[in-house]
Amino acid sequence: MRVAEAGGGLVVGEDGLKRCSWGASHDDYRAYHDLEWGRAVHGETWLFERITLEAFQSGLAWITILRKRENFRAAFLDFDAEKVAAFGEDDVARLLADAGIVRNRAKIDAAVRNARAVLEVRSSVEGGLDALIWSFAPAKPAPAPRRIGDVPATTPESAALAKALKRHGFAFVGPTTAYAAMQACGLVNDHFAGCHARAAAGAGAAAKKITRGAADGRR
Ligand SMILES: [Zn+2]
Repeated sequence: MRVAEAGGGLVVGEDGLKRCSWGASHDDYRAYHDLEWGRAVHGETWLFERITLEAFQSGLAWITILRKRENFRAAFLDFDAEKVAAFGEDDVARLLADAGIVRNRAKIDAAVRNARAVLEVRSSVEGGLDALIWSFAPAKPAPAPRRIGDVPATTPESAALAKALKRHGFAFVGPTTAYAAMQACGLVNDHFAGCHARAAAGAGAAAKKITRGAADGRR
């Protein structure tokens, strides 16, 4: 998601916790903000899912994607890259007819192409997609942002990640989408200073990580 879409700064919720204002703007956002966004995500399946959903977001509000996430998981067979890589025209037709997801031919084609790229990375990069993506985590964490203007849309690392993904055959993952994925997956920690979720987020908080699985009952 692009943080900028929902404003900046902290707000205090009725639970008394300070959180990034976007995380308080919808009930759906609150759980995602508190338990998922910014925490270290590892594993090919989860990372492939993140990249795919960020790519589907392009031009849309993240809330749209978040509310459809279970439909995306069903449509893309829990983001099993091998299964998605084997999708043919029949599968694409099924997805184009699935009102539960975002029916965009270019994005659906990109998701299938990206699944194939995940398999290519699996065979060409030791450690696969997880190792490839995490190799672009900044060596030194940036200071905690205080306002929306402190959060970049792209960084040199996100541009390099996008370039590497493209080289491996990925589509629909430019520097902006790559940075959104880096934020979501905890390579960077863009919770505002003072946000209660900040301590559990970021690459340095891996020991405290809970992945989406813990947050929503899967794995
Ligand atoms: Zn936050």
